Amino acid sequence: MKIYHKIVQSKKIQQFMNNSVLMNWNDLNKSILVLLLGGAAHITWICWYLYFSQHPSFEHWFNHDYGVFHLARMIVFCIICFALIIPIWFWGEKPYIAKYFPYISVIFFGMSFVYGGYTVGITSPVAIAAYISLITVGMVLYKRTVMYVVFIPITIYLVAAIILTLNGQMTYAPIYTLEYNQKVLHRNEFWVYSQMYFYIPIFFCSLVLFEVLLIQWRNREKKIRDISQIDPLTGIYNRRKIGQNLTEIQNEHRDVTIILMDLDHFKKINDSYGHDVGDDVLKQVAFTLSKNVRDEDVVGRFGGEEFILVLQNKSIQQALDIGERCRKEIESTRIKINDKEFIQISASFGITVGNHYQTKQQILKQADEALYLAKKSGRNQVKQFEECASYLKDSQI
Ligand code: GH3
Ligand code: MG
Ligand code: MG
Repeated sequence: MKIYHKIVQSKKIQQFMNNSVLMNWNDLNKSILVLLLGGAAHITWICWYLYFSQHPSFEHWFNHDYGVFHLARMIVFCIICFALIIPIWFWGEKPYIAKYFPYISVIFFGMSFVYGGYTVGITSPVAIAAYISLITVGMVLYKRTVMYVVFIPITIYLVAAIILTLNGQMTYAPIYTLEYNQKVLHRNEFWVYSQMYFYIPIFFCSLVLFEVLLIQWRNREKKIRDISQIDPLTGIYNRRKIGQNLTEIQNEHRDVTIILMDLDHFKKINDSYGHDVGDDVLKQVAFTLSKNVRDEDVVGRFGGEEFILVLQNKSIQQALDIGERCRKEIESTRIKINDKEFIQISASFGITVGNHYQTKQQILKQADEALYLAKKSGRNQVKQFEECASYLKDSQI
């Protein structure tokens, strides 16, 4: 288990699983992989034949008239598998190779396996299992046009061979002697274990390929989800995710408390110390805000230097306390510029409690008005929407 984890966690495997997505390989590279696996599978079957056909106690199971042909066929198929890799490897960029070789490889690969299935019995478990495994993995790996080109003739062949064998017009499992074929096969150890053996390379290849495809697919899904939800600079949720979050809360008819926060005179920090320092400030602020909310609450970057807290089940007083706590912490944070210099920043906060019958836009507008009031009142303070009306009244007097 330890070795397995060591291998899986190794840099090369991690890189392959995350960056070299098998499904995104071009069809030629996929063909190289398939041909390598096909060649390797044929080698395992050649070994089986060489061992058992020469072994005295099993000798009488083999139809020797057919056997020589069978062995020659397997060797030729094996050589072709590896030989097809050569033009792909060396002349893969030529248009006709890129266009036709994926088809040629898949057709050859499929046909060689189907012919093998006929040799050991077209309705034998290994032939049926191989058909299902290879078609399923092929469908995930290749585009449909490539797969249908091989899927349709193979299926026609399989059905025709089954019918012809049932009618006695085609020999069933010609590799074996007649005597052997007439025995009750499923009680015959040699036959059962041979079936299992034939299936090992197919099963192993299909399983490994499927596992790799699934892991890479899940990794990609996660990456895409993260890209669409996470702000790359600060690592907190982005505006899109916050929007989704607010919609969910509204769909469930729950009230929501919003704190909008905007850094004060942030442009000056960029202008005086550079964009990189500005970025560090944004990261530091995101960290401070995240620290001050509970699990059920959400922190997001709403725009350039504007952040949002979406709080649930919080009264206005609790929200004011959270806002004030964040304001104080941001105000007292010393951000290092170099070994000697530190800067201090401040932020303004606007808070509102939204009702479930209000739209998302209305609630955000209220928070924005409160934030505007905080800015107008001198910055580095927390204001709530309710104060806006009295401010307006006062300023009109
Ligand atoms: P106020 O107190 O009124 O909010 O003033 P301000 O300077 O903070 O506001 P203003 O809207 O004039 O400037 C916001 C600045 O934020 C301008 C822009 O260069 C900077 N900014 C936006 N996004 C980023 C970012 O991702 N990184 C950095 N470093 N700066 C950013
Ligand atoms: Mg600002
Ligand atoms: Mg701003």
